[in-house]
Amino acid sequence: MRWAHDISAALPTNGPPQLRDESGIDTVVLHCTAMPDWNVWDTARYHTGPNHISPDGCPTIAYAYFIEPDGLIYKCLPHSVRAWHVGPWNDRSLGVCLAYEAGEAPPPAPQSAAAVDVCLMLTRQLGLPPDRVLGHRELEGTGYTVEDGNPVLRKECPGLAIDMPGFRAAVALAREYPEHHAVEVI
Ligand SMILES: [Zn+2]
Repeated sequence: MRWAHDISAALPTNGPPQLRDESGIDTVVLHCTAMPDWNVWDTARYHTGPNHISPDGCPTIAYAYFIEPDGLIYKCLPHSVRAWHVGPWNDRSLGVCLAYEAGEAPPPAPQSAAAVDVCLMLTRQLGLPPDRVLGHRELEGTGYTVEDGNPVLRKECPGLAIDMPGFRAAVALAREYPEHHAVEVI
């Protein structure tokens, strides 16, 4: 059993959050911080202040879940909050962010394993198949655009060292052993 520590009431915000109908969520999006040593507090302060997404700051941290390199998991937002992480997909998705700089090495094993378990928890809660777990770079309109019929990558997020088909296969495998991959939000 893993624990996801709910710190949603403690994180900084910037005005009221945008709310949405949770029944419309059909996608879980994997992200990375792409910054050295940023933790969940650094990330929330960045998002709620002037940033690359909005000069006025976003209402909340962009991610619903955040995972440290050692596998420590934070829940950052209720699923009813529409966070600003993937542009045209914000209404219908939840973000899971790794504190990971996205170099040539993949994330540490404890962090990857925790990410699989969080994505398993979310796909089970939301009634989604594992193929609805996508990397940010896989989302059209934010991760890539189509120009002259060809995809043009705009983002490498969550890092090119993360093989997304392999990650989805790990989530699918974990579904067969849910008792070994349980996450409880506390
Ligand atoms: Zn991202």
